[in-house]
Amino acid sequence: MADAPAECNIKVLCRFRPLNQSEILRGDQFLPKFQGDDTVVVGGKSYVFDRVFPTNTTQEQVYNTCAKQIVKDVLYGYNGTIFAYGQTSSGKTHTMEGKLHDPHQMGIIPRIAEDIFNHIFAMDENLEFHIKVSYFEIYMDKIRDLLDVTKTNLSVHEDKNRVPYVKGCTERFVSSPDEVMDVIDEGKNNRHVAVTNMNEHSSRSHSIFLINIKQEHVETEQKLCGKLYLVDLAGSEKVSKTGAAGAVLDEAKNINKSLSALGNVISALAEGTKTHVPYRDSKMTRILQDSLGGNCRTTMFICCSPSSYNDAETKSTLMFGQRAK
Ligand code: ADP
Ligand code: MG
Repeated sequence: MADAPAECNIKVLCRFRPLNQSEILRGDQFLPKFQGDDTVVVGGKSYVFDRVFPTNTTQEQVYNTCAKQIVKDVLYGYNGTIFAYGQTSSGKTHTMEGKLHDPHQMGIIPRIAEDIFNHIFAMDENLEFHIKVSYFEIYMDKIRDLLDVTKTNLSVHEDKNRVPYVKGCTERFVSSPDEVMDVIDEGKNNRHVAVTNMNEHSSRSHSIFLINIKQEHVETEQKLCGKLYLVDLAGSEKVSKTGAAGAVLDEAKNINKSLSALGNVISALAEGTKTHVPYRDSKMTRILQDSLGGNCRTTMFICCSPSSYNDAETKSTLMFGQRAK
């Protein structure tokens, strides 16, 4: 096959957003120094990733370099996961979603939606495709269906092949990029309605968009399945900076726990020698179990602010990314 899948591993990509207006007005320094296309120096220390994207990188460049191939692989029956990790306001949502209906500024998810259907139209016409999507979030360890607001506490089950899934989560069949976009708009809308402060809320919950692709050859009846999880993680910032207490502190502890569970799974997978990968330590890693490591395509975006004001968070974000290498 001409388009045989690329070798499997975990890719860690680092993206810095530009300084924003208020950072410029405050006179913040621009910290990162970019070297080649895989190294960034912050505070005299070098961090090497599979790729480092400086601030002027376009959405299209990001997509072409790291998501395009995954889409092809999923159409060949592989599973995959793309994450965005970083503190609030570091560019996670910009990377995963971007401006949804803007052809230049749209992020990875809408580009994937278009690409999947482009590939399908170019493939063997004896292949029949069934594509369904789900959209949910994990907040305080509870799974909420973003396509059905009545489902606020779904649980993780295993199917007969011991593959974990979110039981009862809404699944929508889609047959065009526009239909995918409609589902995203609907989910985002529901998320807005459910909470009083959307920005705060989105920084404290993980949002997960799942694309499930089944194909069947009409003559041979040969079947192939692949799925792709697209995860916009909760903000990774340490809570001490804001001096939180009570409910906010509980939220922060919860996020911390789930992000470190993810970090532990990724680093165990990256090491490759560990027989035990602690998938069961959090709901998110349980759900993602069959789409991380092994035969899967895993890509982690490490999103960073370039501002001196965020120095400590940026370093801790970069360290998180290094653990996966
Ligand atoms: P997060 O989801 O990590 O909290 P956002 O993606 O919402 O952060 O980004 C915060 C702000 O910075 C948004 O206004 C976004 O449009 C802008 N931004 C983020 N990354 C970039 C980038 N690479 N280029 C230009 N603007 C960006
Ligand atoms: Mg966000």
